[in-house]
Amino acid sequence: MAIFTHPEFDGHELVAFHRDERSGLSAIIAVHNSNLGKALGGCRMWPYASEAEAITDVLRLSRGMTYKAALANLPQGGGKSVIIGDPRRDKTPQMMRAMGQFVESLAGRYYIAEDSGTSVADIHEMAGVTRYVGGLADARAQAEGRTGDPSPATAYGVFVGLKAAVRHRLGRDDLADLHVAIQGVGNVGYRLARHLHEAGARLTVTDLHAPHVQRCIDEFGAVSVGMDEIHAVDAEVFAPCALGAILNDTTIPQLRPRIVAGAANNQLARPAHDAELKARGVLYAPDYVINAGGIIDIYYEGEAYRWDTVRQHLDRIGDTLRTIFERAELESGATGAIADLLAEERFKRV
Ligand code: NAD
Repeated sequence: MAIFTHPEFDGHELVAFHRDERSGLSAIIAVHNSNLGKALGGCRMWPYASEAEAITDVLRLSRGMTYKAALANLPQGGGKSVIIGDPRRDKTPQMMRAMGQFVESLAGRYYIAEDSGTSVADIHEMAGVTRYVGGLADARAQAEGRTGDPSPATAYGVFVGLKAAVRHRLGRDDLADLHVAIQGVGNVGYRLARHLHEAGARLTVTDLHAPHVQRCIDEFGAVSVGMDEIHAVDAEVFAPCALGAILNDTTIPQLRPRIVAGAANNQLARPAHDAELKARGVLYAPDYVINAGGIIDIYYEGEAYRWDTVRQHLDRIGDTLRTIFERAELESGATGAIADLLAEERFKRV
């Protein structure tokens, strides 16, 4: 299978494959770009149908990390790893240690963290054999009651970004009585709902899981709607905080809010939907910019963690989005494309 000419290759610095017969580990580590600093990215474990699928995923995800770190103002590069297998059936501590040894063998070119299919406990297992782990809450963090869960930081970052979008599009700084429709009120969506409620916003929410909706009704006076109606609510802002590809050929024509600002990854079903949103007069806060709170939080985890320092960094998500919105207007571009350009200017220039 071609790697250097793979459509997702995009000048990757390193793609490493490893098989450990004893534990059954089959893994790939990809480092896209380390111009801005060491490459950090999560380890995804997934029962990929083919090796080709796993390669495509790791290349796409590690490239995405370079862009995300650059726009999050972090001195960090982009990397990612995948383990081919079903996390519920195939994962063993032995396999996690073998993964740790694989990371160690790259001598710091890639720092590993959790992602879907791997947990904090798995990363702790790996940390027994490699120094190159990121985002692990240490003993002091645990004593302070922090778990290493990045959701609070992600939710705060989305709140900051949403305010920047409201200021740009609606010319207002306060959120009193602003109507926000939130899709998915899990770890991030629920915390975002709390920030918005405290700022005086009105909420309409939906979720697959009924108790998640109920706590928003009880605690924030939210109104609930069906899952396939949330994007078409007559609100000022749509905040997707559940699943990817929610901005697609079906939902975009039905979208009533003129602002999209939410935490979900990969919100655009296809890259062309970026321009489609612009053409319809919708201000889209690029997902990887507004939801960068998690990697910002992880960056500080290994250091002397101070929430005030993290919060100041998270506040800069608003500044970055403002730059993107203003430039998109000046250059008549779509916000997603402008974000990519800005990221490239930062990590390619070094
Ligand atoms: P979560 O699983 O805690 O919450 C997602 C919620 O969405 C759940 O309550 C789930 O029931 C609900 N849901 C699933 N499908 C739905 C549907 N079709 N309609 C409505 N609700 C649905 O996940 P999370 O940690 O809150 O993350 C939410 C999104 O933000 C994900 O896309 C995630 O990748 C992204 N994200 C999260 C973080 C983080 O720090 N947790 C960081 C960056 C990006």
